[in-house]
Amino acid sequence: MGFSRTGFFNQSLAVTLCPLNSRFMSIEISHLTKLYGEQKALDDINLSIHKGEITGLLGPNGAGKSTLMKIITCFIPQTCGELWVEGLNIKDNSLEIRKKLGYLPENNPLYPEMYIKEYLAFIAGIYKIRNFQSKIDEIIEITGLAPEIHKTIGKLSKGFRQRVGLAQALLNDPSVLILDEPTSGLDPNQLVEIREVIKKAGRQKTVIMSTHIMQEVEAVCDRVIIINKGKIVADDKTENLSRYTGGSRIIQVEFDKKADLLSLKGSVGVLKVHQEGPRCLIFSKGEVDIRAAIFKYAVDHDLTVLSMSENQRSLENIFREITSGR
Ligand code: ADP
Repeated sequence: MGFSRTGFFNQSLAVTLCPLNSRFMSIEISHLTKLYGEQKALDDINLSIHKGEITGLLGPNGAGKSTLMKIITCFIPQTCGELWVEGLNIKDNSLEIRKKLGYLPENNPLYPEMYIKEYLAFIAGIYKIRNFQSKIDEIIEITGLAPEIHKTIGKLSKGFRQRVGLAQALLNDPSVLILDEPTSGLDPNQLVEIREVIKKAGRQKTVIMSTHIMQEVEAVCDRVIIINKGKIVADDKTENLSRYTGGSRIIQVEFDKKADLLSLKGSVGVLKVHQEGPRCLIFSKGEVDIRAAIFKYAVDHDLTVLSMSENQRSLENIFREITSGR
């Protein structure tokens, strides 16, 4: 599918180029599969991520999120399939690609005995960053590390250690930032601050972050990809996710007394009914408006409708509906 290693037009071209229009794609993944022995961690993943998007990678434990991130960041190889980062094929250009990436791994490995600046200078050395002192000062400012700068990493709180991890990921000014659970274990104030740093970074960079926290996705991400059992089961703008539940609607109705809802269950478009005393939740097909049927049911059964409203699904409920039972 890709051009040969020597390139089609230019024999001296030392990179394998993405066959698609890489000007607009930051990451392009085609039929990516990863096996750990018998265990299939990723199963035929196809994905395109545009420049400048903050993408949330969601999924239950063991879904394959970390595996996908480790492959994108060249830490482990795929079993089969193709992957391009900024137009470069990962199989032939992992060194080039690493220079374009910033990565915060899940367990944020740091050197506890080092001072923050010392550690960042060490990382800058690995990346061979010129004028690294001014770059380090800039990153310390962005990540809000200044108040703790006199401490060794081992003496920092979890939130500040996470900032150091983000600082090292941002140091080489990467165009793609991969963050594996960047806010895990942080308190509510730290959460808000780290999310702000990520959002700021996301204005110029492509960001992929995994998380378990639904509010985080709503607060930070432009796009959500849900992985379950190694497969992508949803991929859309955050606000469009409800369509992946089959577009069903939930109407909440309160009658003046407990009703026998058997006949309502048989109405056109009704999928299921949950009753809690006089209040009930009626799940219906998205394209059917069942409100008139509910009023008719109330009249026929000598009931008064005290209230009726449509429940908005939270992202958390949508996530559970998409990933449970598949
Ligand atoms: P997530 O990040 O979504 O929790 P992972 O990518 O860590 O999921 O894991 C996906 C699947 O691959 C899981 O079933 C996990 O047990 C398995 N897995 C991950 N790493 C390894 C490994 N090094 N060896 C064997 N199996 C692994």
